[in-house]
Amino acid sequence: MFQVVTSNQQNTKNKVIHEIKKSNKVDKAHEWQLKYYMYVFKQHGIDGVKGILEYPLLRKTQEVILTDIDREEIQTIAEEITNVISQEQCPPVTKKGICKNCSYFEFCYINEMEEEE
Ligand code: SF4
Repeated sequence: MFQVVTSNQQNTKNKVIHEIKKSNKVDKAHEWQLKYYMYVFKQHGIDGVKGILEYPLLRKTQEVILTDIDREEIQTIAEEITNVISQEQCPPVTKKGICKNCSYFEFCYINEMEEEE
């Protein structure tokens, strides 16, 4: 599980993952996305990876580091995800504001979309 890691750019020589966001809003989820990438690298024995988040529209650059507490949090989240995907039934839709802009919207809301048709 959780083997796919992609990023805008990876500077392998300097062990830097560079993620460029087109958003005009800083989002904690962007930081966690990058932390997850660093977590996977560490899981594969690659230490000392740094993350750089860049927001060209905001002219803002942010360094992201992965702490031991972050690693524990990611492990907890991964266990929760594993529990959800191992269930026979999908959990009820949470209907949060963030869902409107989420890439998985159509997966999570498929039943609601079918009921509207
Ligand atoms: S659409 Fe689904 S995956 Fe996306 S934020 Fe909402 S509940 Fe989570």
